Amino acid sequence: MGRAGNAVESPHRRDVPLAGYASLDAEVPVFHAPRLGRKAGEVRGYLARGYGSLAGILSIEPPAITAFLVADEDWESAPRENARPYPPGLPYFTRSVEPPTLVLPEELSPVFRPRTPATLPLTLWHELAHAFLLGREVVRTPAWLGEFVPQAASAAVARRAGLPLEDHLSRIDREPGFTVRGFSGPAGAWDQMSFQNLLLVLGSAALDGFGEGFLRRIFHTLWEVDRVVDGERAEELLGDALGSGGPAWLASRPEF
Ligand SMILES: [Zn+2]
Repeated sequence: MGRAGNAVESPHRRDVPLAGYASLDAEVPVFHAPRLGRKAGEVRGYLARGYGSLAGILSIEPPAITAFLVADEDWESAPRENARPYPPGLPYFTRSVEPPTLVLPEELSPVFRPRTPATLPLTLWHELAHAFLLGREVVRTPAWLGEFVPQAASAAVARRAGLPLEDHLSRIDREPGFTVRGFSGPAGAWDQMSFQNLLLVLGSAALDGFGEGFLRRIFHTLWEVDRVVDGERAEELLGDALGSGGPAWLASRPEF
């Protein structure tokens, strides 16, 4: 304040959120609260792994994005689309700033279950997959397809990273009282987690049965369709993306 240069700089800097944050350079730069340097290094590693893997799986030039690792006390200042802050502890992707950014809490909400060494990386790769998908225009789809895609993608990154998912998947309740197609909002945070976990089970099984090629096909399909995708169409699109036997396989899955 008071230096002549500030008057020139401020129009460009005013919208930069969390301006006191330090940055870790990387393909996905991580801005972090000064006290969260150690965690930021961990996050940077996972994001680098996911970024490279997803670009390879999807055969695309990855989108330019950043990440903010936000301290609890700064959560209300984090970039977002809406005026009101989002619930604490829930990571999200936002295009409200340029480049678009992943907003990550210093600790995941207790609602993230199961808690295993895979929980944090899977969550980061899920948000990263949203960022890749939203790097191009996409139409509305049923929630189950819109969340199946990042869950399957995060499982695919885990496989490439050599991160064993068996233990994590074994702790998931396979019968929460609904299927992914039957799940409907608005729902509480715990049901949302059960829904996401069912999709992770389904995505992982799809990778076992069909390999990761279907991910490239479903991403590209979602970038190409130009009309809102209803439930029936969503099933066709995913069945076709899976490949030969895809529709019958989907219909046979208990989670579906
Ligand atoms: Zn999601």
